[in-house]
Amino acid sequence: MAKKISQLDLIKEFFINNPLRNIPHPEVVDWVVIQWKKRTGEIFRDPDRGIRSLAQKGFLIKISKGIYRYDPDFVVNRKLEDFTPAQKKEILKRDNYKCVICGKGKKEGIELHIDHIKAKDFGGKATIENGQTLCAQHNFLKKNFKQTETGKKMFIRLYELAKDKKNVDLQKFCSEILEVFEKNNINGHIEWTK
Ligand SMILES: [Zn+2]
Repeated sequence: MAKKISQLDLIKEFFINNPLRNIPHPEVVDWVVIQWKKRTGEIFRDPDRGIRSLAQKGFLIKISKGIYRYDPDFVVNRKLEDFTPAQKKEILKRDNYKCVICGKGKKEGIELHIDHIKAKDFGGKATIENGQTLCAQHNFLKKNFKQTETGKKMFIRLYELAKDKKNVDLQKFCSEILEVFEKNNINGHIEWTK
């Protein structure tokens, strides 16, 4: 009797057999739909969603919209950089069981996450120093508003430059923008010293 596989296993099988190649969705979908029908007699439901979920789990690298890549080294390295339960405990304790941005935590019944300050995808390590406690909301913001980090850093540099050059107008402009970041608790981990 054939071993029962899941739909995700089948998608994985495709990528494992096609490593180190940027693959657009349709190519994967065509293959898994046919294979699933062949092996189980059933219809494969929502393969696109399956691919996305494998990328979210760190099994696939998202290259661009609808294009994914499997790299065995990436999977292994990424896994190695997950925090251990002991590290998570230590980070939570260090941060007083509170989100480092808004200060909400256990007391307020807020769900807390341990976040890599420097993301795993950018070579961030699973060390206590690279960990921080975030509430669900700020974890979401950080993951989805990565581009604002670059923006904030840019304005901080521009602000400092303007200060050096005594360009009052530019300094005022930058500081107004940076105040908007602060007011909305965006990217609080990037420090701006006025
Ligand atoms: Zn928070």
